Amino acid sequence: MDLFEYQAKELFVKHGVPSSEGRVTDTAEEARAIAEEIGKPVMVKAQVKAGGRGKAGGVKYAATPEDAFTHGQNILGLDIKGHITKKILVAEAKDIASEYYISFLLDRTNRSYLAMCSVEGGMEIEEVAVEKPEMLAKVPVDAVKGVDLAFARSIAEQGHLPADILDAAAVTIQKLWEVFVNEDATLVEVNPLVRTPDNQILALDGKVTLDENAEFRHADHVAFADIDATDPLELKAKENDLNYVKLDGEVGIIGNGAGLVMSTLDVVAYAGENHGGVKPANFLDIGGGASAAVMAAGLDVILGDEQVKSVFVNVFGGITACDAVANGIVGALETLGAEANKPLVVRLDGNKVEEGRRILADFAHPLVTLAQTMDEGADKAAELAASDCLQVGRNNTAAK
Ligand code: GDP
Ligand code: MN
Repeated sequence: MDLFEYQAKELFVKHGVPSSEGRVTDTAEEARAIAEEIGKPVMVKAQVKAGGRGKAGGVKYAATPEDAFTHGQNILGLDIKGHITKKILVAEAKDIASEYYISFLLDRTNRSYLAMCSVEGGMEIEEVAVEKPEMLAKVPVDAVKGVDLAFARSIAEQGHLPADILDAAAVTIQKLWEVFVNEDATLVEVNPLVRTPDNQILALDGKVTLDENAEFRHADHVAFADIDATDPLELKAKENDLNYVKLDGEVGIIGNGAGLVMSTLDVVAYAGENHGGVKPANFLDIGGGASAAVMAAGLDVILGDEQVKSVFVNVFGGITACDAVANGIVGALETLGAEANKPLVVRLDGNKVEEGRRILADFAHPLVTLAQTMDEGADKAAELAASDCLQVGRNNTAAK
């Protein structure tokens, strides 16, 4: 999960990384009020998850609270590389003597951590890497030893920071490492890391990516989720611990096991070519325990997608046998009642397949079609989706 700058700075404060005091808001009026509180010139900064905000006019110096108001008005709503600015950070403007660059990241290729540091900060680091590669230090970090003060100083030295500031830089860099490790980040990047005229070393920008696999040990990270930007169906799926990804097509897919679901997507896309090009509407893996509750939650999410015209349930019974899955589907349809309003094609195979099919046959729900094989199920689901699309087309024509 990528964080906004203001969120990254919350983590900096938590770990004692020196930065500039500030607050986030979504109105120009409050930007003025924050500037008044700070009582000094401020920076008004667009909070979008994109770099190069400065160049795009999203970072402005405000000498007075009135300037902060004006910049706030201009920056709120500003489109920066396709990201619309909804929030601005109003932070004390610091005097800058020099701008440096520092980052810690997960280096997947080398299966280790990497520190990058440069005296050439401020500008895009990719340019430094290309134009003056000798000025960008890349220092591997041993995951067990980590970064102590002496090593932090060495990183700064290798990045060619001036000798007289190395001790101060080491303190800030070491604390940034603590953010990286203790918050389970895969990236902590500060550009610029600035030297003030009175030789403080401050993190004036912050880009942090958190490892979502470590979310379970960071209850406080939940608050960083950008609810506005998350698809409501994906949010609902997440609340139910379902592994769901929305796609563009018309055939809803439910399966157990990521491998099976992925091959189901392929088979449905292939079958769809014979039915006017209908495509899978989503990826949804309900995992091992296909209980009625999980099946109901999964169906609920998929049926909530207006684009879905039919649903293909493709389950291979293993530890959770087909009879349990069939009971899950029956329970789900009973739970959903009239909300279940799209045709369902079910293909069961594996452990206790006969019992499973019998349960569904006895249930004889008008929306449920049983398929013997995956190919047959995919074809039927695609056909149903296509015929519904046609019907909608006809209805639309009739209405004209
Ligand atoms: P980015 O363009 O998205 O990377 O946004 P930054 O937060 O890095 O800001 C862009 C530039 O604005 C920085 O490189 C600085 O030159 C300038 N800047 C940011 N904060 C301050 C500040 O507190 N004081 C001054 N004088 N300049 C700042
Ligand atoms: Mn920056």
